[in-house]
Amino acid sequence: MKIVRFNLEFDDPILPFETEVMWGVMIDGLLYGLAQAPYLEEVNGRYSLDIEPGGGMSVERVRFHAPVTPGKIVCVGRNYAAHAAELGNAVPEEPLIFLKPPSAVIGPDEPVVYPAISERVDHEGELALVIGKRCRNLRPEEADDVIFGYTVANDVTARDLQRKDKQWTRGKGFDTFAPVGPWIDTEFDPAGRRVRCLVNDEVRQDGDTNDFIFSIGQVLAFVTRFMTLEPGDLVLTGTPEGVGPVQPGDVMTVEVEGLGALSNPVVAEGDIRNA
Ligand code: MG
Repeated sequence: MKIVRFNLEFDDPILPFETEVMWGVMIDGLLYGLAQAPYLEEVNGRYSLDIEPGGGMSVERVRFHAPVTPGKIVCVGRNYAAHAAELGNAVPEEPLIFLKPPSAVIGPDEPVVYPAISERVDHEGELALVIGKRCRNLRPEEADDVIFGYTVANDVTARDLQRKDKQWTRGKGFDTFAPVGPWIDTEFDPAGRRVRCLVNDEVRQDGDTNDFIFSIGQVLAFVTRFMTLEPGDLVLTGTPEGVGPVQPGDVMTVEVEGLGALSNPVVAEGDIRNA
C-alpha cells in the first residue's frame, strides 16, 4: 500500500480553490481518502485504513505533501563506512543518533531554502522508515513489528554550521531541511536497495542498504533503550558516500530502488522572503 497526504487544487480562473490536506491511499493508480493518519489506532470507532466514502480520484489535480507528520525525526549519522571516511570520521562503534525538528519537514517538489547564514549546504539522500507502534527497549528482531512502512528522505545539512557549532542542531535543523516522500510504502523490503542522490540529473550518491554499518533493527534497539518511539515518528537510516554541496537553482532527487523518488529544488532565502 502507498500512503500519501494530499490536497486538491483547482486553478479555475473564476473560482480557484484548494481543499485541506488529507490522508490517502493509492490503489491501482487511483487515490482514496482516509479518515485519519493510517498509523494511528482506532479512533472514534473508525479504523485507520477505513476509506472515506466516494470513489477513487485521478491524481491530476492532486498536490502531494510529506506523507507523515512526525512527532520527532530520529537520524543516524555515519551509517555507511565509505561516507564516514569521506568526511574524515572513524566508523562509529555504536549508532550515532541525532534529531531533526519536525518543523523542517517538507513534501515532494517543495523548495529547500538555502539559508543566508550558510556557505555550504549538502544533500544527503536516505532511506527512512515510519514507526507504526509505540515502542521502548525493542530487540533488533522485533523491528518489523513496529515499522509501519518506508519512505524517501533528504537529510539536508548546512555543513559549515554543523562543523562550527560542534553539535548538529542548527546545521541539520533549518526549516525545509527534511524533505520526505512521495509516499509511505507499507510493503517495501529494505534489504539490498540502492540509495541514490542526483543533483540536476547528475548522480552524486549511489549506495546500497546492505552496506549499513548498523542494521535497522540494531538502530531501533539502540534508540529505544533511551527514547520511546511513537506512531508517526520518522527514522532516517544514514547517507551513503558522495555527499556534496548544492546551490540555489539546483534540483536534488533522492531515489530508493523499488520505493520511489523525491525531488526538491533549492532556492535562496531571499527568494522566499521577497516572494
Ligand atoms: Mg544524514
